[in-house]
Amino acid sequence: MTHTDLTMGKAFCLHCKHLSSAQLQVCPVCDEPLRQRKKNSLARTWALSLAALFFFIPANIFPIMKTVSITTYENNTILDGVFYFYRNGEFLVGTVIFIASIFIPVVKLFVLFFLLLSVQNGSRWRLEEKNSLYKAIYLIGRWSMLDIFIIGLMISLVQFEGIAIVTTGYAASSFATMVILTIFATESFDTRLLWDEKGKK
Ligand SMILES: [Zn+2]
Repeated sequence: MTHTDLTMGKAFCLHCKHLSSAQLQVCPVCDEPLRQRKKNSLARTWALSLAALFFFIPANIFPIMKTVSITTYENNTILDGVFYFYRNGEFLVGTVIFIASIFIPVVKLFVLFFLLLSVQNGSRWRLEEKNSLYKAIYLIGRWSMLDIFIIGLMISLVQFEGIAIVTTGYAASSFATMVILTIFATESFDTRLLWDEKGKK
């Protein structure tokens, strides 16, 4: 059995990594609120991640914009936007949009589900690496609003080509909802849970 803050009756500060008495409400070093574990962390993270996954679907199957020219009328999904830039030789723009709007959200949700399942199955495998994975998606989360900005940029760049654009509600609002839910899901997860299995006999 490995000792964790729980088994020692202490609380590990997620902010400054100081180990204090579990009786304290606030970390004596950094003044951040101190809790042994985030409240209902697993249930909240599951609910928020599943909700985010749910919104990922309309964000990608509904058109994010309608392009209208004299002869054509098209509904375009995010992925259509990516192909649009590839077709026009704008590989960098296409790739940035693909990474920000599809690749990163998928990776973030995948990591969250992986961490959740790992805690639930009491896995003791590669805890340090899992902690690093969490840190990575947490840091990416801070830049998540960039995803929404890039979607806006995509729409404005397509507009530059001189076709009328009508942005549509479902996909854009689903996308924004998904990004925000993923941020909350990441915030809800408590990495200290990963080690709790080691604290059991
Ligand atoms: Zn602290």
